[in-house]
Amino acid sequence: MMAGFLFARAGCRVLVLEKHKDFFRDFRGDTVHPSTMEILDELGLLQRFLKRPHSKIERAELMLRRRAWRIADFSRLKTVAPFIAMMPQWDFLDFLREEAKAYPGFNLAMTTEVSGFIEQEGRVTGVRLQDGREVRARLVIAADGRTSIARQTLPVEALAAPIDVLWFHVSKTPHHEEGLRFMIGGGAIIVLQDRDTYWQCAFVIPKGDSQKLTAAGLEPVRKRLAAAAPDLDLSDLKDITDLKLLSVQLDRMTCWSKPGLLAIGDAAHAMSPIGGVGINLAIQDAVAAANVLAGPLAQGRGVDSMLDQVRHRRLFPTRFIQGAQRVIQDRIIWPILQQGDKLDKPPLIARLFDRFPPLRVVPGRLMGLGIRRERVRSPVTSMRTTTP
Ligand SMILES: Cc1cc2nc3c(=O)[nH]c(=O)nc-3n(C[C@H](O)[C@H](O)[C@H](O)COP(=O)(O)OP(=O)(O)OC[C@H]3O[C@@H](n4cnc5c(N)ncnc54)[C@H](O)[C@@H]3O)c2cc1C
Repeated sequence: MMAGFLFARAGCRVLVLEKHKDFFRDFRGDTVHPSTMEILDELGLLQRFLKRPHSKIERAELMLRRRAWRIADFSRLKTVAPFIAMMPQWDFLDFLREEAKAYPGFNLAMTTEVSGFIEQEGRVTGVRLQDGREVRARLVIAADGRTSIARQTLPVEALAAPIDVLWFHVSKTPHHEEGLRFMIGGGAIIVLQDRDTYWQCAFVIPKGDSQKLTAAGLEPVRKRLAAAAPDLDLSDLKDITDLKLLSVQLDRMTCWSKPGLLAIGDAAHAMSPIGGVGINLAIQDAVAAANVLAGPLAQGRGVDSMLDQVRHRRLFPTRFIQGAQRVIQDRIIWPILQQGDKLDKPPLIARLFDRFPPLRVVPGRLMGLGIRRERVRSPVTSMRTTTP
């Protein structure tokens, strides 16, 4: 959607194809990070974005045995919006859609599933739809997530992800503060994301354990959840099927493009939920792609020879963030899951962040701003026809 916005803004005719009828799927992450809000600010959208319902997170905390350790601080970042805005991804996508519609070149087709590419002499010249129709395009951008169709034609390198997530939600109790919380205890990790009236919860489990856990029924799971999050009201959990398995995947394409086709976002590099950075990385990819390609495309020039510049630009931050996610999953998450009840204090790194407040800016910066963040350089050649 962000790529569609930027290419339309640069004067290209864009058609965004989305297979679902809406964006309402609760497995999507909710975090809009300061790096994304910098981009919204550059595009003149930030104030309108912040008018939409959201909650602000200025720090992240790790909770063990009812004690909180502060592990990340976003409020000291030197940026226009030094906090994480928690906004369900469907609201964020709706917002981008409304803004993009103001450009005459922008078109969106919902309930339109792509089933494959049309290729002529080794060049992708469009897509084939599930219903048999064909759409021709000078450039196809595959931003269709980690099960992308482009993965059938571009090579992918798998990286180990030893965890999965059971996803559920429960009502908030009045004494709970807002925020992003990592609750640990009894060999369980639960990440709580604030969705205003309820907590969206991610129960982190070793990969492959979900069948064993769910086969044992709700009570043992409840006990494990309560060990990590004793204050969480679990009464909304009525049945084991209230917990949905989200398989975690970490990988990246070794080549992100071929003539006529470019992959970005999770299609090019599936991100683990650790750090909640996947959405923001996908947005940065879209900005980088538009910076390189939107101007020439709008002028009617061929861009095949420029496609690899996008991978070149984005590979370093992708590798860096995926590397950090692997260190966290192997050195922090995995030991916590293995230690069970024996765990009486958080990992050393968390204790250091809590003890020395200036240190908390480091994880805050890495999560909030990432590295090699993009600035919008794609041209504005299209006039808005409406004001949302
Ligand atoms: C459990 C879990 C929790 C996460 N939590 C967070 C978080 O809090 N914050 C965060 O930043 N990241 C989080 N992530 C990562 C994040 O979800 C992804 O990195 C991010 O959504 C990638 O965005 P994307 O636009 O590339 O792909 P997606 O968000 O996957 O979007 C792809 C879109 O393409 C559509 N589509 C797919 N196939 C087709 C087709 N054939 N035809 C037409 N349309 C199609 C899909 O319907 C979808 O709308 C989490 C990941 C997991 C697994």
